[in-house]
Amino acid sequence: MPRIAIIGGGISGLSAAFTLEEKRQSGAQSDTHSERKIEYVLFEAAPRLGGVMVTDRADGCLIEAGPDSFLTEKPWAADLCRKIGLGDQLIGSNDADRKTYIVLHKNDKNKLVVMPDGLMFMVPTKILPTVLSPLFSLRTKMRMAAEWFHPPHKADADETVAQMVERHYGSEMVDLLADPLLSGVYGGEATDLSVRAVLPRFADMEAKHGSLGRAMLRSRKEARRKMAAAAKAPPRPLFTSLKEGMQQMVDALVARLDPATLRTSSPVQSLIPQDNGWTVAAGYQSDHFDAVIMAAPARAAAAVLESADANLAAELAAINYSSSVTVTLGYDENVRRSLPPGFGFLVPRSAGRRMLAATFVHNKFPHRAPENRAIVRCFLGGARDEQILDSTEDQILQIVRDELRQIIGLAAEPLFTRVYKWRAAMAQYSVGHLERLQRIEALRQKLPGLALAGNGFSGIGVPDCVRSGTEAASKILSEMGMWSAA
Ligand SMILES: Cc1cc2nc3c(=O)[nH]c(=O)nc-3n(C[C@H](O)[C@H](O)[C@H](O)COP(=O)(O)OP(=O)(O)OC[C@H]3O[C@@H](n4cnc5c(N)ncnc54)[C@H](O)[C@@H]3O)c2cc1C
Repeated sequence: MPRIAIIGGGISGLSAAFTLEEKRQSGAQSDTHSERKIEYVLFEAAPRLGGVMVTDRADGCLIEAGPDSFLTEKPWAADLCRKIGLGDQLIGSNDADRKTYIVLHKNDKNKLVVMPDGLMFMVPTKILPTVLSPLFSLRTKMRMAAEWFHPPHKADADETVAQMVERHYGSEMVDLLADPLLSGVYGGEATDLSVRAVLPRFADMEAKHGSLGRAMLRSRKEARRKMAAAAKAPPRPLFTSLKEGMQQMVDALVARLDPATLRTSSPVQSLIPQDNGWTVAAGYQSDHFDAVIMAAPARAAAAVLESADANLAAELAAINYSSSVTVTLGYDENVRRSLPPGFGFLVPRSAGRRMLAATFVHNKFPHRAPENRAIVRCFLGGARDEQILDSTEDQILQIVRDELRQIIGLAAEPLFTRVYKWRAAMAQYSVGHLERLQRIEALRQKLPGLALAGNGFSGIGVPDCVRSGTEAASKILSEMGMWSAA
């Protein structure tokens, strides 16, 4: 009976386990293939499963400690939700109320300036709202106009997002948009993250069209044409979540797995290739498996794989991770009425604050707060402020409350607060990341029966993690001659 170990019980490991479970159940139904039944064991270091996906509750409000949603455009997470019976639980963001502000710091004062309509990530595609926006200086607006005539440019080597954005729009665009947007997604910095790994579409557009503005407009027209051609489907929301929060996905996945296969509080110390398989050492026990799916963060994977292959371990250890802190504050209906409309605000580095962003959760999604409550969720940390993790919860709350007062004049006493610290949880795809992935894949191929999954490789969002776990399981099953796409 083929035995497979999964290391790490976050969404990547759980998606891998679910793929194996589906296969196991289909094998169980077939007597003729009974010799092909598989067995899997999932090792998770923490006492609970789900990794950074944690949903909490307070005062009738739903609180996300980690991810609050996923991009609708990436189908893998929603597809998995439908498979595990959560199709009717999927909810979309309230895009009619979508409005995001940037904090402008001028003359010692903070001002919320709405991001102009037509901005796609940081690329302006509508002339009038951009020209009229008080967000950009005249100099940047002139750069935007000139960008329209940017010649095609194929970079010889990878570069940072900041380098590319600066070439097209100048440094103000890096400070006001590129950096805060990347902080929100990666907890990373535009001056470090790789364009090819993080914004591959931009690199392609630049090579083909030159101007990002023209290329974006063209792709938007194309998308509109396709949508019009397809039945008159309602527009899809930008973000998707679940009525009862992201942990609903974890709970539904766990409910579909055999409890006997799930070993929580079981950190794996080492993986050793042995007897055409792998010896997995966890605690005082070691066990033999035919194959292993490593779904722990790359740095943890490096430590576990050190004795199996020091070169592979060194490449994995070189994938940087940043830490973050989320702080949720609940308020009454007076505060709800006084907060600006929209999804929240981003804080550029030039504003000189520790907060990176804040979300007005009650506006962003339905089913999050009763009508008489407001939820403000703030993000801190990231690559530029790892030290925040060493502060106490009280110190962090003090920083957040001071900055909310300074930025949006919110001085009211919160009804409840929650602080969550996530140490080294967000992978940073630095310049050269794609080349590193190729070296990792070459080394992995020399270790039969090993597959890698998780947010350290090809996408840090929940949908990409689901895809990576599912693909890792399929790869192992295929190596064992057990995969069929059916
Ligand atoms: C604060 C925050 C907000 C985010 N917001 C969003 C969002 O809104 N939308 C979105 O799409 N994505 C978001 N992300 C990113 C996304 O949530 C993560 O990238 C994804 O959930 C990671 O899943 P994972 O399973 O790869 O890793 P993890 O969730 O980190 O799970 C890895 C697991 O491996 C275990 N482990 C580690 N070492 C060992 C070992 N030696 N033995 C056994 N187990 C081990 C850990 O305990 C952990 O449970 C956010 C991330 C954070 C931290």
